[in-house]
Amino acid sequence: MLIIGSHVSFGKDKQLLGSVEEALSYGSNTFMFYTGAPQNTVRYPLSDTLKKEALEKMTEAGIDFHNVVVHAPYIINLANPDPSKYDFSVRFLEEEIKRCDFLGISRMVLHSGSHVGVSLDIGIKSIIQGLNQLLSTDSKVMILLETMAGKGNEVGRTLEEVKQIIDGVQNKERIGVCIDTCHLNDAGYDLSDFDAFLNLFDQIIGLSYIQCVHVNDSKNERGSHKDRHENIGFGTIGFDTLQSIIYHPALEKVPKILETPYVDRLFPPYKEEIQMIRNRNFDPDLIEKIRITKTDE
Ligand code: FE
Ligand code: FE
Ligand code: ZN
Repeated sequence: MLIIGSHVSFGKDKQLLGSVEEALSYGSNTFMFYTGAPQNTVRYPLSDTLKKEALEKMTEAGIDFHNVVVHAPYIINLANPDPSKYDFSVRFLEEEIKRCDFLGISRMVLHSGSHVGVSLDIGIKSIIQGLNQLLSTDSKVMILLETMAGKGNEVGRTLEEVKQIIDGVQNKERIGVCIDTCHLNDAGYDLSDFDAFLNLFDQIIGLSYIQCVHVNDSKNERGSHKDRHENIGFGTIGFDTLQSIIYHPALEKVPKILETPYVDRLFPPYKEEIQMIRNRNFDPDLIEKIRITKTDE
């Protein structure tokens, strides 16, 4: 069975219940959310009542909680050489893991960080140290390192860098990888022969580490190091290649999460994109159709 969903919001008032409702409105059977604003670390207390209602809704809808993903805020940086910023990142992630435990979430996607120009090696050492501290607790939350496009001083732009981090992590049971198709493309990887890419991934890291796929098309050419997501089938990766990834048998049990841009920054495209993926047929008018129907509503 295809496990597919999108990024959804997690609002202060309805919390997880709101996220579940949004996911179901897109026809999803999984979803991903930030436990608060992605660009800051302000977090509201979590409600037990809303959590229970959300869990009931999910059980009714047949959503397996194990497939739901949290994304850590992207301002967190375990590679930051400034000790106070590094400590803050570790402490924030400790709290984030507790929030995941409370909600019953077992997968958290994390950007490895940015070495801010100091040195890649020092950055990687710092990330490993942080992860080892975070993964020494008795939580079940798995941290998934996301493959990055290679903007600025991002760590994790090559599979070798990701592998280097994993090698340094002691608790291998709680570390995994989230492959982001837009980021891989922008980092320079050719996804058009996805079997070949998976072979490469298997040789360098090991296929079993892939625990989440971010399915995005890209606005830019392969190797551009830009990281600008495009709607499914409307970018340089293209519909057929994305379908070969989404439906690859080796990734059947791995949740696929769309992080494609809103149409005109207003209308979420996920319901229509997921429908198109399920139909296995590219609709070149999809975006225009969303624009017309949503503007009428
Ligand atoms: Fe991300
Ligand atoms: Fe992503
Ligand atoms: Zn991205």
